[in-house]
Amino acid sequence: MPDPNPILTVRDLGVTFPDNNGGLQALRGVSFEVCPQEFVCVVGPSGSGKSTLLRVLARLLPPVRGEVTFAGGEPRIGFVFQQSNLMPWRSVLENIVLPLELQGMDRDEAQAAAQDLIDLVGLQGFESNWPRDLSGGMAQRVAIARALIHDPDILLLDEPFASLDALTRERMWTELSRIWQARQKTVIMVTHSISEALFLADRVLVLTARPGRVKLDLAVDLPRPRADEMRYTPQFGKLARQLKKTIE
Ligand code: ADP
Repeated sequence: MPDPNPILTVRDLGVTFPDNNGGLQALRGVSFEVCPQEFVCVVGPSGSGKSTLLRVLARLLPPVRGEVTFAGGEPRIGFVFQQSNLMPWRSVLENIVLPLELQGMDRDEAQAAAQDLIDLVGLQGFESNWPRDLSGGMAQRVAIARALIHDPDILLLDEPFASLDALTRERMWTELSRIWQARQKTVIMVTHSISEALFLADRVLVLTARPGRVKLDLAVDLPRPRADEMRYTPQFGKLARQLKKTIE
C-alpha cells in the first residue's frame, strides 16, 4: 500500500547521457516512493543504471526527465561508495570529522560527534590509526561514520561491501543493520548481491537491463532482527529465487 507520507518520491525519472548516437538512455520511466526509515535495496544487471539512480538522488546528476522530490525540501544526503575514499594523510578520527570541519563546526563539538559514531560503528581504539593500516571492512566503517556525521536525512550506499571478502561482508550486513536501527535512517543501497539485499532490506527494487526501469518492487517480509540462519529458511529461499528470476 502506498505510504501517505513518503520521504522521497521519484516520478517518471529518465536519464540520457550524450553520445555520438542520439544519446545513451540509462534510466527510463523510473517511479517509486520511499518511506521514512525504510531500508530499500536496488538490484539489477550491470549497466542497468543503479549508480546513475543514486547519483540523481544525491543531486550529483540532474535528471533529463521526471522529478525527484523530498519531503521537507532539500535533504541532507550521506553517500558511501564502493571504495572508502579516505584521506590518507588524516587519521580515522580526522577523516570522520572532516565534513563537520568543512561546515565550520566548533572543533570540540565535532570531535564529540565523531567519537559517538566511532563507538557506533565499532572503531573504538582506532581513532588515531592511518587509513593505510585499516582492513577493507574497517575502512568502510570509517566511510559509513563519515557519511553519518552530518546526520543525513537519507543515506545512499553504492555497493559499499563489494570489495570485501565474503566473511567480512556478512559481518558488515549485521553491523549496517544495527547502525540503521540505532540511527533510524532512511537508506537506499545498491548491491549486486541478492542475499545482501534480502538480509538488509524492507523492500528490493529490481531494475531492468538498460534503460533501467523498475521491473519489480518486492516487499521483504522477513522478521527482524535478521540472523545468519535466516538465509537458510524456505521463506528466504523463495524470495531469493523470485529476485534471481526477475533479474535474469
Ligand atoms: P549500474 O550501476 O547498474 O552498473 P550505471 O548507472 O553505472 O549502471 O550505468 C548505466 C549506463 O549508463 C551504462 O551503460 C554506463 O556506461 C552509462 N553511463 C554511466 N555514467 C555515464 C556517464 N557519465 N557518461 C556516459 N555514460 C554513462
